[in-house]
Amino acid sequence: MITAIVGINWGDEGKGRMVDLLSSDYDIICRYQGGNNAGHTVINDKGKFILNLLPSGILRDNTVNVMGGGMVIDLEHLCGEISALRSKGVKITPETLKISDKAFVCMPYHKQQDILEEDRLAEKKYGSTRRGIAPAYGDKYLKKGIRMGDLLSPDKLAEKLADIVEWKNITLGGYGEERVKLESMMEWISEFSEPLLPFITDTTIYLTKAVENGKNILLEAQLGALRDIDYGIYPYTTSSHTLAAYGPAGAGIPGAKVDCVIGIMKAYSTCVGEGPFTAELFGEEASALREAGAEYGAATGRPRRVGGFDVVASRYGVKMQGADFLALTKLDVLSYLDRIPVCLAYEIDGERCESFPTGERLVKAKPVYEYMDGFKTDISGCRKPEDLPEKAMEYIRYIEGAVGCPIRYVSVGPGREDYIEVK
Ligand code: GDP
Repeated sequence: MITAIVGINWGDEGKGRMVDLLSSDYDIICRYQGGNNAGHTVINDKGKFILNLLPSGILRDNTVNVMGGGMVIDLEHLCGEISALRSKGVKITPETLKISDKAFVCMPYHKQQDILEEDRLAEKKYGSTRRGIAPAYGDKYLKKGIRMGDLLSPDKLAEKLADIVEWKNITLGGYGEERVKLESMMEWISEFSEPLLPFITDTTIYLTKAVENGKNILLEAQLGALRDIDYGIYPYTTSSHTLAAYGPAGAGIPGAKVDCVIGIMKAYSTCVGEGPFTAELFGEEASALREAGAEYGAATGRPRRVGGFDVVASRYGVKMQGADFLALTKLDVLSYLDRIPVCLAYEIDGERCESFPTGERLVKAKPVYEYMDGFKTDISGCRKPEDLPEKAMEYIRYIEGAVGCPIRYVSVGPGREDYIEVK
C-alpha cells in the first residue's frame, strides 16, 4: 500500500504533524522532493522537532526513512539536523535512514547564487528562502552537478567538481562576485559528506523490494499544491513537484501507483514569500490571525501572510493532488473569532470567478469574502465529533462541500493526540 500525504495549499498546512500521527501504520516514510527550504514542526512525547530535510518518520522507532532522488540535499544542513536529533535521543542509523544516490547536492555556491539573485531582483524578488534550492534544481536540469552517489567515489568527484566550479565561475562572474574556490568546495564536501556516506544507497532497489514484499510506504511531501513548479503560482513556486503524482518518481519507484492520497488543508490560509495571494487579509484582522496561529516560518522565522479559508484555491489544490480525503488542520486557531472569514470566489475584471485562474488573471483577482458564525469556544480539548460546538461542525461540513472532498481528520492543537476523527 502506497499513500501520499500532501499539502493542498501554499505549504505549512501541518503536514509534519499528520505524518507523525499517521506514520505508525507505515513501514517506510519517504521524502520525495525539495530541500531544506521548508520545515515541518513535530511535537510529540520526545519533544519539539523542526525537520527540514529528514522525513518525519525519523521520530518513530521501527520505521525506515528514505530521502528520495527527487530531493536536493545541503550536506552541511543535513549533518546539523542529524546531530541535533541525535542529541535529543533520536536513533539514526543506516538501517533507519537511506539516502538516494540520485539525490542532488545543494552546494554552498547555490546558496550564494540564490542570495545574489534575490538581492539583484530587490523589489521584484520571489521571496526565496535563500537556501540555494532554485539554483540547485536549475543546475540539476542543466546536468551540472554532484549527486549523492558521486560522494562515494572521491577520485572521480574531484575531477567532476573541478569542471563544474570552472563553469560556475563563468556564470557567477556576471554578479562581480569573488570566484568559487575549488579547494574550499572540496574541503566542504569532504567534511560534510563523511558522516553521510553510510546512509547513501540505491533506494530504488530498496523500495522496489519493499513494494514486492507488500510493505506500507508513506510518501511525504514538502510545501503544497500551489507551490508546484508546473501547476502552482509560477514563478512564486518552489522548484520541484509538490504533487502526489510525482511522489513515486521522486521517491525512487516511478512505476508504482499511489493507492491513497491524503490532503492536508488548513482551516484558514497562509503564504510565505511573494506572489499572488488573493485571500490575503491586512491590518488588525491579519495580525490577530497571525498571532492566534503563531504563523511564522519554521525554516526562516518570517511572518507569514494570512487570510481566510480560500475555497477557490483549495478546491484547485484538492483536484491537483487527487486527494481521496482530507485532514483539516488548526481549526482551534479560529476559536477567537466572532465571524469566520471565508473567501468564496474571486472577482476578476468585475466578473465572479470560481475556478482557479493562472497568470495575469490570478494577479488581478480580488477576494469575494463572506463570513460564517464563529464557534467562540476553546476546542483544543475536543477529541470526538460530538465534543465540537455545532458552529465548528457547520464550518467543517461547509468547507468539505465547497472543496468536494471528505474531511476525515480535524486537528485542534499541535500535539500528536490533538485531533478528532470526524468520519
Ligand atoms: P508543515 O510544513 O506542513 O508540516 O507545517 P508547519 O510545521 O510549518 O506548520 C504547522 C505549525 O502548526 C507547526 O508549528 C505545528 O506545531 C502547528 N500545528 C499543527 N497542527 C496544529 C493544530 O491543529 N493547532 C495548532 N494550534 N497548531 C498546529
